[in-house]
Amino acid sequence: MKIVLASRNKHKIEEWNATLGKYVDGVELLSLDDVGIVDEIEENGKTFEENAMIKALAAAQSGYLSIGEDSGLSVGALDGAPGIYSARYAGEHGNDQANNAFLLQNLAGKEDRSAKFVCAIALADPNRPDKGMFFRGETEGVILTEARGGGGFGYDPLFFFEPMGKTFSEMSGEEKNSISHRGKAIEQLAAYLKTIK
Ligand code: IMP
Repeated sequence: MKIVLASRNKHKIEEWNATLGKYVDGVELLSLDDVGIVDEIEENGKTFEENAMIKALAAAQSGYLSIGEDSGLSVGALDGAPGIYSARYAGEHGNDQANNAFLLQNLAGKEDRSAKFVCAIALADPNRPDKGMFFRGETEGVILTEARGGGGFGYDPLFFFEPMGKTFSEMSGEEKNSISHRGKAIEQLAAYLKTIK
């Protein structure tokens, strides 16, 4: 089964490739480039789910079953920010260093440093675009006062997962995928794909 993944984030794509195939045999993930979709997809939804579906429907124009994924960090003491703006929290899209610095600045002096990562997946079928499906994963953690570890991307160096005593950046890819918001959402999607294969 060929499925298009509507993402250009190479870190996310790596995590998808390391997980989905493990859960479901015979799934081949195609990129937007593979199906000739070159235009930027405008993410103007108000929720993770809305943005995920915008991406999935754009990719479904290819004629293949398509997945959109929208994810981000939600911090309790910041009323859920950066949320859907996680990738451009400090202004420039995808500047992880600036985003992490801005997060630390906004949390300075706050006692509550609890946070969660959220991943929403939307699945769109080109033949039934009005019958999209959603899958969601969340993982709770704490935002440290300084970065730790060299792996991962985004807010990984600041996100401490207490049950393992490590930040996401200090984990191997396999460890992170086994407990991450994305790993959990992908597992649910995989369970559904097995029923339609
Ligand atoms: P999106 O590509 O619009 O879904 O933006 C996702 C943004 O959320 C990324 O650029 C990161 O800043 C953040 N994010 C999502 N998932 C993760 C993760 O697994 N680790 C670290 N940061 C993440």
